[in-house]
Amino acid sequence: MTQIAESLRAQIEAGRYKAGDRLPSERELTEAHSVSRTVVREALALLRVDGLVEARKGSGVYATGPGRAAKPFEDIDTERLSSVIELFELRSAFEIRAAGLAAIRRSADQIDAIERTHEAVARAIEDGVSPREADFAFHEAIALASNNRRFPEFLALIRPGIIPRVELRSGGGPPRPYTPNPDLVTEHAAIANAIIDGDRDAAEARMEAHLEGSLERYRNLWRGGAS
Ligand SMILES: [Zn+2]
Repeated sequence: MTQIAESLRAQIEAGRYKAGDRLPSERELTEAHSVSRTVVREALALLRVDGLVEARKGSGVYATGPGRAAKPFEDIDTERLSSVIELFELRSAFEIRAAGLAAIRRSADQIDAIERTHEAVARAIEDGVSPREADFAFHEAIALASNNRRFPEFLALIRPGIIPRVELRSGGGPPRPYTPNPDLVTEHAAIANAIIDGDRDAAEARMEAHLEGSLERYRNLWRGGAS
């Protein structure tokens, strides 16, 4: 199976099949490689996962070309509200769970880190500085406290997309100001306290409320002028 997948991958990467070119049919591949149809299908599925080919209904499998094999999250446009909202929904799903795990797994050092970053957010606001970086650090400290390193890894992966620009553009329209969350510090305090208390359900509920509030603000912007 991998042999066919590797052979096709090499041919696509070498430009033998360019973007939009149709690959040989399942039957042709089955005969050429003397394997079963299942093996061919599995090989094509592998290539599809890697974004190298796409299936078009009733017409066959087409190369998307090496250039179009976009990596996940690479095509995020932080100036587009639709992209920001998309990512926010995804981020909410795992940050809520991370907060819950942090409540039951956090170490003393990790609690310190959460408190430190929480204070940094409050200080940024007091100083009239954008709290975005500090906000990210707070969320990162919670992800780290989940003691599952995949949470902070994932947060780092999507980081470029989750610190929105100061101004979000509507489709070709004028930039709109991002409305900061007036309850940021209070909401963070509620999350931090639940984690310190070791209350998993409360940590999840408060993280959800915090992120839902932000999401709602973006949705309102979006309604104000589709992007
Ligand atoms: Zn926050």
